[in-house]
Amino acid sequence: MSQLADMTPSARPMAAWPVSTTTVVGVIGFPVRHSLSPSLQNAAFAAMGLDWTYVAFEVVPGSLDRAITGAVALGVRGLSVTMPHKDGVARLATRRSRQVRRLGAANTLSFDAGTIHAESFDGAGLLDDLRENLGFDPAGRRCGVIGAGGAGRAAVLGLAEAGAEEILVVNRTAAPAWRAAALAPQVVRVGRPDELRGMDLVVQATPAAMVNGGRVEEAAPGELAAPARAGRRTDLVAPAESAGPAEAESAIVAGVDPLWFGAGQLVVDLVYDPPLTPFLAAAESQGATVRNGLGMLVYQAARQIRLWTGAEPPLGVMWSVVGGEARTAAAREAATELARLASEEPIGEMHEPE
Ligand code: NAP
Repeated sequence: MSQLADMTPSARPMAAWPVSTTTVVGVIGFPVRHSLSPSLQNAAFAAMGLDWTYVAFEVVPGSLDRAITGAVALGVRGLSVTMPHKDGVARLATRRSRQVRRLGAANTLSFDAGTIHAESFDGAGLLDDLRENLGFDPAGRRCGVIGAGGAGRAAVLGLAEAGAEEILVVNRTAAPAWRAAALAPQVVRVGRPDELRGMDLVVQATPAAMVNGGRVEEAAPGELAAPARAGRRTDLVAPAESAGPAEAESAIVAGVDPLWFGAGQLVVDLVYDPPLTPFLAAAESQGATVRNGLGMLVYQAARQIRLWTGAEPPLGVMWSVVGGEARTAAAREAATELARLASEEPIGEMHEPE
């Protein structure tokens, strides 16, 4: 076993591993076949020398109860949970962290001695990345969150618990925004898009900039989606369901124009495919510091591994699996080249080849 554990997942002989003692964890969601998490977590387990494997389980809506009962019965040690099951697992859990009780959603399950323990590491993963890699401490800072779904609410709660002075929630519809604001009414309020102009931190927590508006699965590890065009904008704020090519490339999200931001401001997009969204590219073109969602993904996975194994995860290995800074740098280079080409020959003036 120890020799196998020394091998990377790809080097392990398929016929000889997993073995009968291999511990199984995984991710449930629908769809989930696009997930980066199996590559991320299996590389971490291999580097840690653990005989653990992480599997993607596609659980169709309506099958969640049976999937959890089955996972417990089969001795699965833990599960990552993604859409659309985050709310459902919070209801099914027998023990919930404080964050899960407040959010009504969870992204992590741990099965132990008959208990189903639910945790939410999305907010903590975001804060870990801001603190560790950008030196940003939300305490006493003015923050804005665009979007009020599961990720937006996790960001709002995380920032409030970290001592943010003020948190402004901007969402395209009102009811979810009020629900997010109710998480910490003393510091959170619902605001207008233009009120985000002066914020220290702006978190873009909608799928608006995902590949094809979030309807299509992200690129496989190692593949990059088409790069964003720096500074490109339209005045459309279209719902993902109706997003056509123009909307999919729009830099404006829920009425927030990233060209408003600039030096001294940190702009984070929780989307990581593409690694440089039009929203981030436009904010960066104005001098803002930008960050995509890869760090949040890595740090929430690290917290899951700590919870399940009790051991310290190899962050360096995990960063290299997701491509880390190199992925963003490649997208930035491509975006700059596209912008240069666009400025040389405006699209409207292109000539037919002779
Ligand atoms: P969700 O629960 O479905 O919420 C979506 C939110 O985005 C809602 O507030 C929705 O507004 C808004 N929205 C959707 N499409 C929009 C559009 N075209 N324009 C403006 N607003 C739009 O989703 P979620 O779980 O919060 O996820 C949000 C994003 O965060 C996704 O892209 C997801 O991949 C990403 N995420 C990343 C990580 C990470 O580790 N990096 C972790 C979790 C989530 P309404 O309320 O008006 O419908």
